Amino acid sequence: MEMDQLVALCKRRGFLFQSSEIYGGLNGFWDYGPLGVLLKRNVKDAWWNDMVQAHNETIVPPGAPARYEMTGLDCTVIMHPQVWKCSGHYDLFHDFMVDCRESKRRYRYDHILGRYVAGLKHGEGGTAASRVRIFATTMETENTQDALEQAALKFFGLRKKDADSLEWDGEIRALSSLPGSGSTGGGAIGDILGNVLGPDAKHPGTLTPPREFNLMFKTVIGALGDDDDASFLRPETAQGIFVNFKNVCDSTRVRVPFGIAQIGKSFRNEITPRNFTFRSREFEQMEIEFFCRPDQSSEWYRYWRDRRFRWYIDMGLAGDRLRLREHDADELSHYSCGTADIEYRFPFLPPGEYGELEGIAHRGDFDLRSHMEGKLVRKGNELVLERDGAGQPKHRGSGKDLSYYDDLARERFVPHVIEPSAGADRATLAFLCEAYNIDTAPDEKGQPTERLFLKFHPRLAPIKAAVFPLVKKDGMPEIATEIYGELKKTFSCFYDDKGAVGRRYRRQDEIGTPYCITVDGQTLADETVTVRDRDTLQQWRVPKADLAAELRERLNGC
Ligand code: ATP
Repeated sequence: MEMDQLVALCKRRGFLFQSSEIYGGLNGFWDYGPLGVLLKRNVKDAWWNDMVQAHNETIVPPGAPARYEMTGLDCTVIMHPQVWKCSGHYDLFHDFMVDCRESKRRYRYDHILGRYVAGLKHGEGGTAASRVRIFATTMETENTQDALEQAALKFFGLRKKDADSLEWDGEIRALSSLPGSGSTGGGAIGDILGNVLGPDAKHPGTLTPPREFNLMFKTVIGALGDDDDASFLRPETAQGIFVNFKNVCDSTRVRVPFGIAQIGKSFRNEITPRNFTFRSREFEQMEIEFFCRPDQSSEWYRYWRDRRFRWYIDMGLAGDRLRLREHDADELSHYSCGTADIEYRFPFLPPGEYGELEGIAHRGDFDLRSHMEGKLVRKGNELVLERDGAGQPKHRGSGKDLSYYDDLARERFVPHVIEPSAGADRATLAFLCEAYNIDTAPDEKGQPTERLFLKFHPRLAPIKAAVFPLVKKDGMPEIATEIYGELKKTFSCFYDDKGAVGRRYRRQDEIGTPYCITVDGQTLADETVTVRDRDTLQQWRVPKADLAAELRERLNGC
């Protein structure tokens, strides 16, 4: 499937629209349309149901080290500015950006891809040609080598048929990973940049050295607020959970181990939002902070990692497009003893590349301690308070005691945290990509034609059943509207009486409706209706009175 086809379908059928489209759109912001809102809500509901609502705390779930409880929160988007200072986001949540002096474009440093290439370059005014070696770059992740070749041909003034005269050297790699470039923007980057042909530039040497850029959206609280009143839109929902840890312990009877779940909007001022909703500036997260005894945290980490991976498989992401990737030791955050990403091979990524759907991180006691003591940094194997030049804490914590007293073990400790952090928009996009299917099926004249259908898991399908009267006469519409009204009490349904029934089926296939119900001539005689299955195209008759129960069973309680 080409990504363009899915994007077109999403717009045509009302899954996703660009935000503020009539004003030209706003980069990195997306609106969910009438079907998109249903699909995304189903994703969030399935997550909440499976992680929180249906969790049975009286038994040990398969693979879990012990029984545990689950509860929820819904915290504000804007929080006390000190939250972000102690969490580390104020000082550390940044990316590096690079500007091009020629094209006036801005790029995320680690997203610029390139490869060394040499060729003969003619000098100005017909002076002798000399051999020039540059690092050609692009932002294309699809057909990267083709894009690099085009840039190089243009630079050396060559035609496509002369492409063989280019001498490519080394692998395609991120500009930020070149030796000497410094992966975070440091190093002797100035020496390298003179040689770099920017992604949209005609001449080498037009990129500025990378600059740091904090990803948090800043806002000011109060009518007369100045910079001292600056706060931030949350870049993750997790911190609302940490700062409420004590409130939850004090107001409920939860005991460690337990988890707090939250679904909510997060905001990141991404430098280069792209790939449809994959990298947006406003998005929704589904996060769990799971609090446990430090000596059991490794077992709980493995439990959540495997549990969350299984959830995506159960929801229909299967095969080699989904993978679980354990981070190497050098990728781990300074406080983590383990992190894994659940990744999906999105169609817009280059062959063999995967995009993150969810991260499962062992966070130790870093977050609770930071909100007690102040911003922490690693010194050797220890986490210590970060201090300024005068030896004072750089960012003070709340000073509140966020430790936990286990009255059975008679022990006080700061719980360790396992954090499964998922993106609702990325999951929704993955389910859309996975559902996109094309096969051949007979049209209304019995001719085999191409059929586009979205093969959603029934729990995720925006519409569960569509009801059609075969024709708009002989009492069929009356029976169909009665069935529609009944089913609607339980399922999201759609009523359609326009056009040939074959076309109506195709319209429902395109939005992933698992079942279509048709009221036809036989219904008038024996009170049965035709039910049609989206995936198998099989049709069978069901007595009208048994329809709701039959659908409920087939839709497996959703
Ligand atoms: P990436 O490396 O892709 O930017 P991340 O590692 O920064 O992601 P986390 O901070 O771990 O992401 O956030 C948890 C989840 O939130 C991600 O797995 C993803 O599903 C979602 N997410 C993060 N940033 C974005 C974004 N800009 N747009 C949409 N979803 C996002």
